[in-house]
Amino acid sequence: TASLAELDPEVATAMAGELSRQRDTLEMIASENFVPRAVLEAQGSVLTNKYAEGYPGRRYYGGCEFVDVVEDLARNRAKEVFGAEFANVQPHAGAQANAAVLMALMNPGEKLMGMDLAHGGHLTHGMKLNFSGKLYEVASYGVREDTHVVDMDQVRETALREKPQVLIAGWSAYPRHLDFAAFRSIADEIGAKLWVDMAHFAGLVAAGLHPSPVPHADVVSTTVHKTLGGPRSGMILAKKEWAKKLNSSVFPGQQGGPLMHAIAAKAVAMKIAGTEEFKARQERTLAGSKILAERLGGADVAGNGISVLTGGTDVHLVLVDLRHSQLDGQQGEDLLHEIGITVNRNAVPFDPRPPMNPSGLRIGTPALATRGFGEAEFTEVADIIATALATGADADVPALRARVSKLAQDFPLYDGLENWGLL
Ligand code: PLP
Repeated sequence: TASLAELDPEVATAMAGELSRQRDTLEMIASENFVPRAVLEAQGSVLTNKYAEGYPGRRYYGGCEFVDVVEDLARNRAKEVFGAEFANVQPHAGAQANAAVLMALMNPGEKLMGMDLAHGGHLTHGMKLNFSGKLYEVASYGVREDTHVVDMDQVRETALREKPQVLIAGWSAYPRHLDFAAFRSIADEIGAKLWVDMAHFAGLVAAGLHPSPVPHADVVSTTVHKTLGGPRSGMILAKKEWAKKLNSSVFPGQQGGPLMHAIAAKAVAMKIAGTEEFKARQERTLAGSKILAERLGGADVAGNGISVLTGGTDVHLVLVDLRHSQLDGQQGEDLLHEIGITVNRNAVPFDPRPPMNPSGLRIGTPALATRGFGEAEFTEVADIIATALATGADADVPALRARVSKLAQDFPLYDGLENWGLL
């Protein structure tokens, strides 16, 4: 019955430090978000104690009557939010969901084709050190060097030449929509399966603000913790005909017992994703990224070698191109960290610099939109970032830090959490 602080002050102190960091700084890592109290409560619950191998109604353990209710709620809500015929909510994370998808769609030694990691693809789409690059043959497509946009004629040409069994549409760093209908037609032309990994933009899809891949793809995977704003975890949606194969690829193919506390939190997140308030938040997310793209792609910063890839954004992030700036990605990330804004450095396509010190920054708006930011606040943040990057080593760090602190104070995060009994 000892509290965490009593039993383990070292962990408790580090956790308190993390809470303060989240409250006092501005989170702009494009893949992060803040979960609501109800999600924290579900995740920090006694459901963590329960083994429930199998699926609702067909478990390998007794005592599953309550966790069955929870998993059914999560599955049904996910299907409803995305208009899908089938959902599996057991993947522990996005990477596990993707491993199960590939296991269901193809055999080891066959070929997949996804977006090149260096152009914005994900590790699980065929990177050579990842299971996807070790178990499968890999072909990839990228963006055009002149526009930084995926050119479907080029994708088709590569697909016809490479003849992959699985075609992947999805990304971790790309600021535009993909043409899912065109991917479908290429997949049909070569007899491939189409898998869409919507991990990044799933929240926008749920809100109807991004084209849905669900009608086009054989299988759609996602994380739940990015724009969707739920617990750190994964999920798979599909046409009914894939149900059996996908279920057995997740369990027993890739995982043992599901994390029932995380599944409860997913059920809560899916309930929230069906609300008007969620939609309004996704609208603010998009409005914010457009404001950032305009400011960071504007004429006044262009003189300092700063621009945004593709000249704008359709989604929740912008990719800042620092190839012609006095700052590299590491210096940009460090400078923004110093003034209290967290972003991550990122390679730009055809990057002349190495991956550990690339020429770009990936900046996203979901977490700040969840915090309550609207157009006025995003305009202020965009100006702070533009000023910092344009002035570089001469930046007035204390003044910029003060502007960041004011925004953080005006939008308190997890107000009253100390009384929720969670810390
Ligand atoms: N798929 C895409 C497109 C991603 O961007 C990510 C995470 O960054 C993942 C999958 C993997 O998710 P996780 O980190 O939960 O394994």
